[in-house]
Amino acid sequence: QLIELKKFVDNLLRGYTSMAKLREVTLVNQVPAEASVTIDSKLLTRILQNLVSNAVKYNRSGGQVTVKYSANDSFWQLYVSDTGIGIAQKDVSRLFERFYRADDSRTKQKVSGTGLGLAIVKELVDSIGGVIHVKSQRGVGSTFTVEFPINDASSTTPAKTASTSQTSKDNN
Ligand code: ATP
Ligand code: MG
Repeated sequence: QLIELKKFVDNLLRGYTSMAKLREVTLVNQVPAEASVTIDSKLLTRILQNLVSNAVKYNRSGGQVTVKYSANDSFWQLYVSDTGIGIAQKDVSRLFERFYRADDSRTKQKVSGTGLGLAIVKELVDSIGGVIHVKSQRGVGSTFTVEFPINDASSTTPAKTASTSQTSKDNN
């Protein structure tokens, strides 16, 4: 479906207002009003629910979660950024594994989770030829980016093959 992204993100973030309030985290929608994309709305909902819930969960009190959008001729991107605990280099490469949880989130953050969210997100993103990557700095925050090909019927350019790139800066 064609989705008006700003409204869509507003609606989705609304579902996290109480969780965010509890943790004193501010939710910011920076998607431009004119952005519209073609994607299965249920799929995008599941992707964003996982990324936004993580961004709130692994944040700090007084922190922020920001959703941004960009696009070029071939791809569109959504960014979910947080000002939270960040992810250690050694954990970054394993984030998308089932049941994997970084030490920091268990010991410092003390929040519960099954470790399945990102594995599901990766599968969903892969299933439609997208890419997910993460940039993170421990103690500063993380940005998860999902990138999807723009399916233009008049174009014969093959979609970029799905892959995961992971980068992280570590303070250690
Ligand atoms: P759930 O299945 O409930 O989502 P979870 O949040 O622990 O559990 P994932 O969403 O798969 O599982 O995330 C895996 C791990 O990656 C988390 O346990 C946490 O250690 C780390 N992580 C994910 N998102 C962030 C983030 N925004 N900031 C810091 N660490 C994160
Ligand atoms: Mg999660």
